[in-house]
Amino acid sequence: MSRAILPGATIGMLGSGQLGRMFAIAARRLGYRVHVFSPDSDSPTGHVADLEVQANYDDLDAVAAFAQQVDVVSFEFENVHAATIDAVERFAPVHPAGRVLYTAQQRVREKTFLRSAGIPVSPFRIIQTREDLEQVTEEELPGVLKTAAWGYDGKGQVKVESLADLESAWNEIDNAEAVLERFVHFELELSVVAARGHDGELAFYGPMENRHHNHILDVSVTPFNLAPAVAEEAREIARKIMTELDVIGVLCVEFFLANDGKLLVNELAPRPHNSGHLTVDAHLSCQFEQQVRTICGLPLGSAQQKRPAAMVNLLGDLWQDGEPNWSAALAESNLKMHLYGKREARVGRKMGHMTVLADTPEEAVERALAARRSLTARG
Ligand code: AMP
Repeated sequence: MSRAILPGATIGMLGSGQLGRMFAIAARRLGYRVHVFSPDSDSPTGHVADLEVQANYDDLDAVAAFAQQVDVVSFEFENVHAATIDAVERFAPVHPAGRVLYTAQQRVREKTFLRSAGIPVSPFRIIQTREDLEQVTEEELPGVLKTAAWGYDGKGQVKVESLADLESAWNEIDNAEAVLERFVHFELELSVVAARGHDGELAFYGPMENRHHNHILDVSVTPFNLAPAVAEEAREIARKIMTELDVIGVLCVEFFLANDGKLLVNELAPRPHNSGHLTVDAHLSCQFEQQVRTICGLPLGSAQQKRPAAMVNLLGDLWQDGEPNWSAALAESNLKMHLYGKREARVGRKMGHMTVLADTPEEAVERALAARRSLTARG
């Protein structure tokens, strides 16, 4: 095992949104210094970092200079080009490694890896040319056509009902390289957040049940009503992915629980995940602390959950009629409020989240939703 990077050292973070912010808070609590590389100034991570370096990811000289000032580097979103990671890796270790990012950031590579590792996924076909499109048969539909690169929160996805729709669906995504996957009739969506250290030690959070609204995560809750054998299978699949990809760091596996009871992996995020935000308040060590510990080569913390918990996202939509009524939500005494310090509230933009701990998961969801409604209740 390589030597641990101990408190007092400097960690570099590529990306400056809320995931970087919560990472930086966890790192500073453990006594590390944090430098953030950010395309923007005054960023959510910059607010809590020791240093914010403002430059573009394709400015490889700036990336190299950044890497020379830190002891280890991680990232908070997957749309970082390989060349940027290569430039960092010349001067500082990056965790998870560039090859993990390379696999997880592009759907064709991600799904090909999952299928070849024997992980259950919805059947899919790779679409690179018009000929590939012509091979599609009726049995493969309905399906979802997803661009291979740079998709998130349902962007770059088109539902395809019949062969007649295929051509226009592909045009809609600019005839880009894509994956056509079978539409999954699912009971619910769930995720497992996994952490893996330098010596292969593993910790798991969840499964969390995730409810989406307009393709954006809306509510996460754990535990929830799921057969223990299925929950164990989800963690086992996460274990297999972490081991096969030799991940050092944190990675989220998103699943469908199909109507026939089968678990299917939807996608991977090689970083802490929105569905793991509730771990900050509900677990002994949160996903961000595990990210710090794993990338620095320290032992993992306990992932034990303290109480049932629910998280609700706060999108910019809540600001449409003025500043939300923070006092109303904070009157819920079991609630923990997290705001990301973003100055501009746009529709669909993640501005913060709230987590409620309660005696039961149902009560946690109910109280979290009530608190969110109170933010915009008038009169
Ligand atoms: P993704 O960006 O792949 O996570 O997809 C965003 C959301 O679209 C998912 O959380 C699902 O709600 C829905 N979705 C994606 N793929 C499928 C599929 N193959 N079948 C049914 N729904 C899907």
